[in-house]
Amino acid sequence: LLAQAEEMDKKNRELTETRRQLEHRNRDLERISALDTLTQIANRRRFDAALRQEWRRSARDESPLSLVFCDIDYFKRFNDTYGHAVGDAVLKAVAVAMQSSLRTYDLLGRIGGEEFLIASPGSVLDEAAGLAERILEKIRNTAVSGSQKIAVTMSAGVTSLGDQDAKAEALLARADAALYMAKQAGRDRVIVL
Ligand code: GH3
Ligand code: MG
Ligand code: MG
Repeated sequence: LLAQAEEMDKKNRELTETRRQLEHRNRDLERISALDTLTQIANRRRFDAALRQEWRRSARDESPLSLVFCDIDYFKRFNDTYGHAVGDAVLKAVAVAMQSSLRTYDLLGRIGGEEFLIASPGSVLDEAAGLAERILEKIRNTAVSGSQKIAVTMSAGVTSLGDQDAKAEALLARADAALYMAKQAGRDRVIVL
């Protein structure tokens, strides 16, 4: 009986250890699937989840929520002219410049290749537009390391949650439309919608 009890005890300890390892592994996986590997900011999945949460909070509390949708101008040319590695360096530098412009509760995500989204809870439209202008100015002054100094510009679409927005997707669609207008109007500018 004593031998049996000891055996049970051993099995229990093994189980506990296995569970601890699994929890650890899960945390790693969670972290990996939430972050964009190149820039280390939130990936689309993580950003979408956070945006839905912020959208619900804003709708409930009637608090402001703004979106800034940014897209690097003529990015394909960077890759074609300087190579993919320099393109990657530009993406990293842009993410750093954007992140350094944000406040504590703002969330930055890399949504596509050279597309970034900021969700800014607590910012009204004017404030978000100001944030976008500051970011574009910072990007203009961002020189990418290496032998040549490379000029980078970005376009941005800005919008805020309104009563008519029944879904987070409506907010996204409007930010996307504003970004498209910024591109059409000549790039390197902010359009507020
Ligand atoms: P526009 O001003 O209209 O935005 O032009 P654009 O060239 O920036 O836009 P387009 O969508 O034509 O090209 C985006 C390019 O981004 C194409 C692709 O080669 C590049 N790209 C996407 N992801 C990555 C990446 O992870 N690294 C690098 N280096 N390039 C990427
Ligand atoms: Mg794009
Ligand atoms: Mg682009």
